[in-house]
Amino acid sequence: MINPADFQVVVLMGGLGTRLKDYTKQCPKSLVDVCGRPFFDYQLDLLSAWGFRKFVFLIGYRADMIEEYYGDGRDRGISIKYSYDGEKLLGTGGAVRRAFDLLEDDFLLIYGDSFMDIDYAETLYRYGRDKAAGARALMTVLRNNNRFDKSNVVMEKDGRLALYDKHNPVPEMEHIDYGVCVYEKSLFEAYSPDEAFDIADIQHELSVKGQMTAQIVTKRFYEIGSPASLDEFTQYVKKRFESANPAVFVDRDGVINEIVWNDDIEQLDSPMKVSQFKFLPGAAEALRTIKEKGYRIFIVTNQPGAAKGKTDLATLYDINTYMIENLAKEGVEIDDLFMCPHYPKKLPGTKEEFLIRKCNCRKPEPGLIYRAMRKYNIDLSVSYMIGDSCSDITAGAAVGLSTVFIGDLKCDLCKKLKDVQPTFIAPDLAGAAQLL
Ligand SMILES: [Mg+2]
Repeated sequence: MINPADFQVVVLMGGLGTRLKDYTKQCPKSLVDVCGRPFFDYQLDLLSAWGFRKFVFLIGYRADMIEEYYGDGRDRGISIKYSYDGEKLLGTGGAVRRAFDLLEDDFLLIYGDSFMDIDYAETLYRYGRDKAAGARALMTVLRNNNRFDKSNVVMEKDGRLALYDKHNPVPEMEHIDYGVCVYEKSLFEAYSPDEAFDIADIQHELSVKGQMTAQIVTKRFYEIGSPASLDEFTQYVKKRFESANPAVFVDRDGVINEIVWNDDIEQLDSPMKVSQFKFLPGAAEALRTIKEKGYRIFIVTNQPGAAKGKTDLATLYDINTYMIENLAKEGVEIDDLFMCPHYPKKLPGTKEEFLIRKCNCRKPEPGLIYRAMRKYNIDLSVSYMIGDSCSDITAGAAVGLSTVFIGDLKCDLCKKLKDVQPTFIAPDLAGAAQLL
């Protein structure tokens, strides 16, 4: 498993910001003020929270201002190196090639004018796994259906990326490249240092050769390419960071979806493949009610199935993606999902041993809730935890949330809960939604 602290992040920051010229006369796009902070600070906070520490900034227009503001990164606990675009406009690919000597063997590439709040642990996991099977790059993609811009990616049913082409759209394209990619450095070797080229050329070629893997993301991105999109992001920041929001933390299995009979182990268990995932009747409706009451929804879920060797981590990610995409189709937007894939003990079937860990995120520990609190501004005093296990109630109570237990609280469970009793008991998620 790749550790984000060891993985380099390269940021394209050289753009002229032409469409934003009233703002970029004085400063580069990445430093445009959003609610009192430079735009890129918000993205850098996200990446720092995921554990990334090594950065290379590719700078051009008003490079001096970026270097002066961020320096070597030491005061943020990170390291930043700089590569200068030079006089000639080199395009995205040329800017990366120009930084060749600063690049490590593999790196994450993002844009300095975009806010991309995705699961970066999944990005690194998928890249590491699929590289071993011949992939040389990873592209994050979003189901788009021409919502944000023209779709440009064909995804196969099994989750493989079949084609990326931004110039020649075909009807099968339902996804769009999201703007976060991982590359092998050697892909840039054949270009000469002052050659101008678009990185899309590399992406297209890799997709045709079957060497580009993908991560499907579910949350929209924000960028500040135009005054309208800058305004949209400003509103988003005001809502997410400047005001404290009420939130509902929701357990997944047994609350949103059915627990399934697993033939292999002859036990009731979490779904171990996408086809086993079934929404409980009324769950989507209930989540919609919670949203309509003004709460953010965070799903917090223990999924030790891969650590126990019953499935793999990629499938656990796929199941979450399936759930979130289907809820979105029903008009329910999940604000975020936090999963603990760990298990403290090695079992005979364990294949992905990096998941064996005594962690602080497996409920009843409240680590998943803390993670949400670091990313969002949450008013805990008016927030709830909803779950069907003692561990959900214990985790919620540990951070001072009101709690709703789903199901019949039988006496054996009462004993297990000892001092911690749920604030409310409800028969299902719909019942819980009514209580809030
Ligand atoms: Mg549960």
